[in-house]
Amino acid sequence: MDIIIAIDGYSSCGKSTVAKEVAKLLGYTYIDSGAMYRAVTLYCLRNNLAPGGIVDLAKLQSKIDQIKIRFVYVPEFQKHETFLNGENVEEEIRRPEVANLVSPVSIIGFVREALVKQQREMGEQKGIVMDGRDIGTVVFPDAELKIFMTASPEIRAKRRLDEMIAKGVQVDTADIIKNIQDRDRIDSTREISPLRQAEDAIVLDNSYMTREEQLDFVLRLAKERI
Ligand code: C5P
Repeated sequence: MDIIIAIDGYSSCGKSTVAKEVAKLLGYTYIDSGAMYRAVTLYCLRNNLAPGGIVDLAKLQSKIDQIKIRFVYVPEFQKHETFLNGENVEEEIRRPEVANLVSPVSIIGFVREALVKQQREMGEQKGIVMDGRDIGTVVFPDAELKIFMTASPEIRAKRRLDEMIAKGVQVDTADIIKNIQDRDRIDSTREISPLRQAEDAIVLDNSYMTREEQLDFVLRLAKERI
C-alpha cells in the first residue's frame, strides 16, 4: 500500500534532505511545500506586491489565481525543480530576499488556501513525501507517517551557512541567524496553520545524527506502515 509521509519542522533542520532520499528509496514523489510559498513570495517581489516588505493584500489576492506552480523534471539535473508560470525558479527562490519575505507571505489565509488545495491534489494518489510546516496538522491530517524534525538552533544556523557558502552565495552570519529565528517565530505563532507538532507525529531530533541514521530512522517507520 502506498502511503503519505508528512515531514514538518523548523527552518534549516534538514527536512528536505531526508525527505528527498526517503522518496527516492521508496520510489515516491517528493514535494517541497516550502518551495511553493517561496514561489508566491518571488512573484510578489517581481511584481512589486510587497513594497517596503508589506504585502499588498488586495493586489496579491487579485493575482493569486494567475500564480501557477509546478514541479517539473529537469533531465540536466535529474530532479524535479520549481517552476513559476512556466519558468524555472529553483535557484531564485532560495535567495535571501525571498527568505526574508516568505514567512510574512505565508501567514496570509488566501495564499495558504490556494497552496493547500494544490498540495492535496498532489497527494491524491498517495506515494508522496511532502515536507513543510503544516503537512501533518492541516494538509494531510490522516497521513500514515508524520515526522516532526528538529535540531538545535546553533546547528541549524551552521547548516544553513554551509549550504549558502557551498552555493557561492555571499552571506552574513548574523543575517542568516536572524532569518532563521524570525521565520521560526512567525511560522510558530501565526494564527492560521502554525508550525506545531501533530499529536501523532514522531519527533526526530537530528542534531547529532548522520544522514544515514536519519534515513534509517524514517525508512524503518515507513516500511512498518507500508
Ligand atoms: O521549507 P522552507 O524553509 O523552504 O519554507 C519557507 C517558508 O515557507 C517557511 O519559513 C514558512 O514560512 C513557509 N511554509 C509554510 N508552510 C509550509 C511550508 C513552508 O508556511 N507547509
